[in-house]
Amino acid sequence: MFTHHCTACERRQLMFVRQISDVAPVADGLEVSFTCWCGAEQTGVLDDLTAGSTRAPQRALAAA
Ligand SMILES: [Zn+2]
Repeated sequence: MFTHHCTACERRQLMFVRQISDVAPVADGLEVSFTCWCGAEQTGVLDDLTAGSTRAPQRALAAA
């Protein structure tokens, strides 16, 4: 489990590992993609799978 501040519902939510749809290694940890309880697709970075909360990715995401 870990906490994540959802950018859609603006709440700090507790996420379960089973909500994770994808995990990708990045320079500063693991980038996890998951679905918030509100239904929004979210992405965050964990130091590792035992980390207690996500943080924003350091690398800039390409703007649409
Ligand atoms: Zn949400």
